[in-house]
Amino acid sequence: MESIKVTTRAAAKLAHKLSSSDKTGHSSDWFASHESTAKCIKLQDEESDHTKRCTASKSAGKSKTTARSKSVPVPSTPAVSNQEQKCDGVTSVPPTDDSIPHPDPAGNEPALWRQQLQKIELMRSKRDAPVDTVGCEKICDQSVPPEVFRYQMLTGLMLSSQTRDQVTSAAMLKLRKHGCTVDSILNTPDEELGRLIYPVGFWPSKVKYLKKTAQILKSKYGSDIPDNVEELCQLPGVGPKMAHLAMNCAWNKVTGIGTDTHVHRISNRLNWVKTKTPEQTEKALQDWLPRSYWREVNELLVGFGQQICLPIKPKCADCLNISICPFTGKTVKPPAKSSTNDVDV
Ligand code: SF4
Repeated sequence: MESIKVTTRAAAKLAHKLSSSDKTGHSSDWFASHESTAKCIKLQDEESDHTKRCTASKSAGKSKTTARSKSVPVPSTPAVSNQEQKCDGVTSVPPTDDSIPHPDPAGNEPALWRQQLQKIELMRSKRDAPVDTVGCEKICDQSVPPEVFRYQMLTGLMLSSQTRDQVTSAAMLKLRKHGCTVDSILNTPDEELGRLIYPVGFWPSKVKYLKKTAQILKSKYGSDIPDNVEELCQLPGVGPKMAHLAMNCAWNKVTGIGTDTHVHRISNRLNWVKTKTPEQTEKALQDWLPRSYWREVNELLVGFGQQICLPIKPKCADCLNISICPFTGKTVKPPAKSSTNDVDV
């Protein structure tokens, strides 16, 4: 039986303010919303040895460690409500201690990853990126039976590939209004289905994938979705990233790191990995990133990539990692024109 570590956002609630004269040039208003964790991070910046951490950070880390020590057993077949299945409760702050069991005992982890991730958590504390408001787990109908909720989750993930969250959300709203169940999709002519999901990226292919997937789900899984990565990946149009996210959000099981273009790009910019593809990044991250971070790192990095560490012109001047990011100051070549206007970049 798998366990999920429970964490809290204790550090974000401590009461201090970062000086408005910080070298990153942020306004005092901006910092006022981030309070003591920012102060803690600033102190950490001043210490080259990251075993020296500020007292407040240690205290926060200890309280989080206590919270993390509670393991919540996850049943293989969840008997939980749709509300509990929602994957919107990422509330942890990356801890500053080293007490979490580590997959990389040889110590090959990137030197600064904890500080970098903690700063990303701080920059993401408002959870106001598109992924936070119209991400896949937010656009499913909370009132439907659990198996329909899971089907909608998978459908949203399939539509989200190469598509902006806002476009996916609009398409899912239309689908839900039409009826987003296995039977309803099977009974919808391809042309009408295309109109409903347009303009998601590669919508003609996705019409075919949705239809074939619905057929398989009806005949093999009783109109539910598979509860393991292997079988999810056998569905048309479903890859490892989608499968891990579906396992996480639909079945409440952490099976891997959902690695999309944002996670891939930012992990390389921060020197966490040196990889060419998201698939390579997923494996490389899982080699050293403690499992307790696997659930949250996707949402953290996706929102960070949508708001600050943009693909072409990252807003380094607004980034708390500017002093410890190896990518700062580098230029990015715009990609060749895409076949879709709605690529999730
Ligand atoms: S590239 Fe710029 S925005 Fe991205 S993490 Fe580095 S400093 Fe921050």
